[in-house]
Amino acid sequence: MRPDFENTAIAFQLKTDSELERAYFLFRLIANEPLVKIGTAVTNFAIKAHLPIEGLIRASVFDHFCGGVNEEDCLPIIDRMYEKGVRSILDYSVEGKEVENQFDDALLKTLEILDFVKEKDAMPFAVFKPTGFGRFQLYQKLSEGATLTDDENAEWERVINRYEQACKKAHDLDVSLLIDAEESWMQDAADDLVLQMMRKYNKEKPVVYNTLQMYRWDRMDYLKQLLEIAEQEDFQIGVKVVRGAYMEKENERAKEYNYQSPICESKQATDDNFDQAVSYIMEHLDRISIYAGTHNEESCHRLIEQMEAKKLEATNPNIWFGQLYGMSDHITFNLAELGYNVSKYVPYGPVRDVMPYLIRRAEENTSVAGQTSRELSLLKKEKKRRKLD
Ligand SMILES: Cc1cc2nc3c(=O)[nH]c(=O)nc-3n(C[C@H](O)[C@H](O)[C@H](O)COP(=O)(O)OP(=O)(O)OC[C@H]3O[C@@H](n4cnc5c(N)ncnc54)[C@H](O)[C@@H]3O)c2cc1C
Repeated sequence: MRPDFENTAIAFQLKTDSELERAYFLFRLIANEPLVKIGTAVTNFAIKAHLPIEGLIRASVFDHFCGGVNEEDCLPIIDRMYEKGVRSILDYSVEGKEVENQFDDALLKTLEILDFVKEKDAMPFAVFKPTGFGRFQLYQKLSEGATLTDDENAEWERVINRYEQACKKAHDLDVSLLIDAEESWMQDAADDLVLQMMRKYNKEKPVVYNTLQMYRWDRMDYLKQLLEIAEQEDFQIGVKVVRGAYMEKENERAKEYNYQSPICESKQATDDNFDQAVSYIMEHLDRISIYAGTHNEESCHRLIEQMEAKKLEATNPNIWFGQLYGMSDHITFNLAELGYNVSKYVPYGPVRDVMPYLIRRAEENTSVAGQTSRELSLLKKEKKRRKLD
């Protein structure tokens, strides 16, 4: 059945009137691009200067887009969403770390969360970021084919070992693990490592999922190659399909170093590439499982149409939808209402450490990126329905 994404009563059923007002106020603020630019600069400065602005950030963007500063904070949110059929993926969103013990901390978090995933039906996957487990520059050096020093080789062994521990534990507990994708110039090394993990741990079912950013024009070819390898070597593939979150950075770098940008030439080309990947996976569901991470209504409708054409149940375990906490509740909750497998990424971590994540969310929600007007019009509609205007 086709979900009704206009149903705001279902979309915002967990929001109190004051939370609804706060969301409306917040999206109105971040719709303003110059304000987001200034706000980002001021916040970065204030954090570096150790000014006491954490309370302000918490009460505004943080509480809207994050579950809390630690796992316990997130539990009430996870339980409340689960009552409405929405699952949660706890996402330790501390970014930009460079030190070994911080990578070990991120591994420990992932291992702990895997235990939660095993115990709690409300949590279907664990997730980690490649640069949560190792230094960006190290991935980059490997991706560029440079020779590592002895120390770097030892450092890379430790990165492999972290992937190994996380993926083995997921396999032993019989739960699944998503691995995010990041900037293209470090991604090859991460992809190679994830492939090694899939070979080892996806023999019977998709335990390890890599992420494909379909704003990259080379990802369809990559997906086809991956399928060839999986067929030859007989393992299952898990893929999270997204459009991609680093477009500006990618285009700027390509321009600066004078190489062809890896990003599709237009939004339409990205959309087509995304659709193509989804259709390709749906044609090979016996071998590839999909987690569609998107806030695009049309993409969700298309996937549902293909499920219906193949007479697949909404609860098919190989097909998942996902949105980010604080965004596109109209998609998440209306999909859940019809019984589709749907989850929210629930980011958490110390306020100052999740700032890069929050800044990405604010930037992608400016009026230029386009998503805000949709959020605003739905929030407005619900305010009216509740007679709050
Ligand atoms: C559950 C979940 C997990 C995610 N995990 C990751 C991850 O691991 N790695 C990651 O990078 N992102 C990730 N994202 C973010 C995602 O990549 C997108 O940034 C975000 O979801 C917006 O895209 P959309 O499909 O929702 O929809 P839309 O709003 O329809 O698309 C916006 C996207 O289209 C692309 N785009 C916009 N303009 C152009 C243009 N001119 N030319 C070419 N392309 C254009 C960009 O990718 C932009 O983000 C995740 C998102 C979700 C919901």
